[in-house]
Amino acid sequence: MQVLKFGGTSVANAENINKVVDILKNKSVEAPVIAVVSALGGMTDTLQQAGELANAKDQQYIQLWESIKERHLETASQLGLGSETKDEINQRLNELKEIYHGIFLINEFTTKTRDKVLSYGELLSAFIISNCLKNELDGTELKDSRELIVTDSNYTNARVMDDVTSQNIRSYFKNSTARVTLMPGFVSKSTEGETTTLGRGGSDFSAALMAAALKASVLEIWTDVSGMYTANPKLVKQAFPIAEISYHEAMELSHFGAKVLYPPTIRPVLDLNIPILIKNTFEPEAEGTLINQSGKLDFGPVKGISHLPNISLITLEGSGMVGIPGISKRLFEALANEKINIVLITQASSEHSICIAVQSGDAQRAEEAISNEFLFEISLGKINEAIVEHGQAIIAVIGDNMKNHQGISGKMFSSLGKNNVNIRAIAQGASERNISAVIQARDVKKALNTLHNRFFEKQRGTLNLFIVGTGNVGKRLLDQIAQQWEHLHDQLYLNVKVVGLSNSRTMIFDEEGIDLENWEQLLSEGNKKDEETWFNTIKELNLQNSIFVDITANEEVANSYSNYLRESISIIACNKIACSSQYSKYEQLKYLARKYNASFLFETNVGAGLPVINTLNNLVNSGDKITSIEAVLSGSLNFIFNNFNAETTFLDIVKKAGEEGYTEPDPRIDLSGVDVARKILILARESGYTIDMEDIENISFLPDASLQPGSVDQFYESLKEEEAHFQKLYVEAADKENRLKYVAEFRDGVAKVGLQQIAKDHPFYNLDGKDNIVLFYTQRYSDQPLIIKGAGAGAEVTASGLFGDIISLGKN
Ligand code: ADP
Ligand code: ASP
Ligand code: MG
Repeated sequence: MQVLKFGGTSVANAENINKVVDILKNKSVEAPVIAVVSALGGMTDTLQQAGELANAKDQQYIQLWESIKERHLETASQLGLGSETKDEINQRLNELKEIYHGIFLINEFTTKTRDKVLSYGELLSAFIISNCLKNELDGTELKDSRELIVTDSNYTNARVMDDVTSQNIRSYFKNSTARVTLMPGFVSKSTEGETTTLGRGGSDFSAALMAAALKASVLEIWTDVSGMYTANPKLVKQAFPIAEISYHEAMELSHFGAKVLYPPTIRPVLDLNIPILIKNTFEPEAEGTLINQSGKLDFGPVKGISHLPNISLITLEGSGMVGIPGISKRLFEALANEKINIVLITQASSEHSICIAVQSGDAQRAEEAISNEFLFEISLGKINEAIVEHGQAIIAVIGDNMKNHQGISGKMFSSLGKNNVNIRAIAQGASERNISAVIQARDVKKALNTLHNRFFEKQRGTLNLFIVGTGNVGKRLLDQIAQQWEHLHDQLYLNVKVVGLSNSRTMIFDEEGIDLENWEQLLSEGNKKDEETWFNTIKELNLQNSIFVDITANEEVANSYSNYLRESISIIACNKIACSSQYSKYEQLKYLARKYNASFLFETNVGAGLPVINTLNNLVNSGDKITSIEAVLSGSLNFIFNNFNAETTFLDIVKKAGEEGYTEPDPRIDLSGVDVARKILILARESGYTIDMEDIENISFLPDASLQPGSVDQFYESLKEEEAHFQKLYVEAADKENRLKYVAEFRDGVAKVGLQQIAKDHPFYNLDGKDNIVLFYTQRYSDQPLIIKGAGAGAEVTASGLFGDIISLGKN
């Protein structure tokens, strides 16, 4: 005998039912089949809802009933069933209407009536499917499972009387010659002869009872996914079906929310060692998941991750609990008397507090039960009023083999911590098959993905980028990410996604990653940019490894960094403003990054893509001490003084630098030395010095006339008039065979920037084009400096510097 169960989605409509019929026709060739079916998908909820409306004296229950009727009749029509079948459906639905009417009249919807109402779902679907199959296959029978499965009268979650039920099943099938026996799942009958149900999701259990009683070789659960997955596939895109898993692991996973299998299902088949096979009705060729005794131990320590939503945490504490025996017993008894199921328990070893997790629906009753039980102690102040926190969830990491591996919980908690998932309580079963933690419900998706990533994805990390700024540098960065995507994915196991993108006008989001071949078009069609929505969306998406990338020169954007860091969102900035504003702000950002486990990287603030800051950090972190820094840090000034000589005019060269794109549109920003001052300030700070912009000596080489406020044209005019001043600077240097360089220096805690004459033997002398150079003198590099030299400006190299920062986060 083969036992197959088809869930709600598998029989949701005529099209799906036809798939089920095909599977049954094929299967029945091998051996007789029992097919247990659920109600049409979603029907149980609808039946319940109509009952609640009637109970609330809301006439709309009639409309809902009509939709129930429509759906069944339409399915029957689409399956080509005749009037006899439809008459029968009509008749049963009229009975149901009577029941609803009764509920409406007396406004009472007891659990007993509820079971009666809900049973119509399975009874009708089994009836329809059996009639459909009868047209296709001789030897099809319909058997009402209520005649076989006997329970107590615990309505909505009845307990099965194992022995009579087994006997009933065996004696019925001993005499049956059917090829396929269709049976409604979920429904049963009490010893008093009333309809009962086996609990929501209980059709799986009905099928397990059949398989156990008849010692079937396998129990097949046909559903809408290709097996039991490493995590809920609706929440974790990277989840995959587990080929083989043990009964105990499957039980833990389903107990902690893997709805694909109703937890009680396992018990009847486990004792008899009957394997369960989870199959996909919509992809019958897929292997599915085999659940058996051993569950293939060579898989790795963790088999799956699951979660329970809607959890409330109740904490009981007080000095009166220490060393007093029986407090826990009283607590648990009080809850047991109220039939409240405790999902998780932790107790601090000081015995000062006990923390339990319950389903949110039970929380209020639990609180009342506890208050009543400890009324006396609370009144004396020996125990505090129970504290109830709602909006929690439990996540659980499960695997039989975890006990043989060290450090699983360390990995679990450190990955959650890194992603700012706050853990409220932890429990680990003595069997070490399960480690569970209570977290905030809003963090569930992030936590599942983080843990899945950690335990299953060959360490493939996902980086979720939110990029602001799509000018020259932004464009290059997006190009580089698109070009390198495959390499990162295949070689570095990094999945880099641009989830948010914005410029000053519009913004777009796509959790799956914005299409980088087409971002310009998409962005132009995006929503209007507004800082608050942009930030809140990133916060609400709450994705693991979120990184905010600032490619603007905007002060408002720089001022928002602290908000991101507080949400554990890392910052990668090309924008220099944050690091070069007041020291206290810079220090605060560094502090927040540490506190919230986020990174704050700004390699491109100095020398574009050159590894200046990274090198400096490595020196300092490894215990070296910076004694002085000498540097040429302005590509534009270097270009200007490399090209300016007796044959040219200063104005022409400044204009040429502008035309080549080496200066800002307003060249005064470069020529005044402010930009260079910001850079040396950042290097001094990163060297460990407390220093501010006002502390930097900046002696301008510009004549007074060029320093007056006015338009860019007026500035140009002044340069023209002051040509003699600039020529003098040149000639004085040239006479001594020196060259002019705009130099930034930091020595003994003092920083200065300004134009200097550089002699032939100095490393700066031969600095070409728009290159930068930095000399670090340190305790270790005391005679000869550590030198970093290369292109220090330009969109391509700046973008690659940003990219380097991004990848460095992936490696962590
Ligand atoms: P049926 O109606 O066939 O009984 P259910 O809806 O009860 O199906 O269970 C299947 C659903 O369980 C899947 O569609 C999936 O959303 C959910 N699910 C949750 N966790 C898991 C998991 N770990 N593996 C597979 N499915 C899961
Ligand atoms: N139809 C019932 C429910 O939705 C039982 C089942 O489908 O397993 O809970
Ligand atoms: Mg189910």
